[in-house]
Amino acid sequence: MPELPEVETVAQGLRRTILRKKLKGVEVFLPKTVRHGDLRDLVGRTVRRVDRVGKLMLLRWSGEMTLLWHLKMTGQILLARPAETLVKHTHLRFSFNGLDLRFVDLRQFGYVKLVPTAEAEAQAEFRALGPDALGLDHSEFLERIRGRRGRIKPLLLNQSFIAGIGNIYADESLFRAGIHPLTPASDLSHDQRRRLFGAINDVLTEALSLGGSSISRFCDVHGKLGYFQTRHQVYRRHQEACPACGSVIERFRLGGRGTHFCPQCQKV
Ligand SMILES: [Zn+2]
Repeated sequence: MPELPEVETVAQGLRRTILRKKLKGVEVFLPKTVRHGDLRDLVGRTVRRVDRVGKLMLLRWSGEMTLLWHLKMTGQILLARPAETLVKHTHLRFSFNGLDLRFVDLRQFGYVKLVPTAEAEAQAEFRALGPDALGLDHSEFLERIRGRRGRIKPLLLNQSFIAGIGNIYADESLFRAGIHPLTPASDLSHDQRRRLFGAINDVLTEALSLGGSSISRFCDVHGKLGYFQTRHQVYRRHQEACPACGSVIERFRLGGRGTHFCPQCQKV
């Protein structure tokens, strides 16, 4: 699933291409993709701003309308020339002057919701959303982790704790911080908490600078792949040698997700 760096990569692509453009038309090929509102209400409006919180993207339109957009597992937002043939699994098409914005989603879990901007933050998507992982400072992080029970990896995946981290960046951050994924959050020392905060920031920033990780069909608005996956140190590198110590990286399942770690560098 696209995580913070991937969704931000898409948001940046949109900020560079569709801001101030007026929507000429919209086509919905898979109705369930639109969970709320009528996209035809956007025709004639312009995109004013593109925001992102965690994995959720928000297109702010003139006339105070907001389009919430969640890519979920395999959603892709792609720019295309209007004459280009629609690829398979294209569910939405937004037509601007000389430019199309298309939503392609193989697994069909991605969706949009159109709501008045004043109501956007009252939507269910926001109700259980913590602060964005890249907008959080060190003291806020310490404050949020204080008194948390449960193990650290599921906590990192919990979007109400911090928004934007998924399986890839949880594994990579814990490796860099030298913390075993099953460590109870309440057992982390002050030093481990400090290292974890630094690791999360470093991993997300580095991933963003490389256009994200192209896992599960992820690409930017131009169809270009990211390449942070080539820098993954543990994620999907089980049975390979740890880049820090040479031990064999292990994998186990935690809450149905593959969890990757180095048994030497990340001791229980
Ligand atoms: Zn190691």
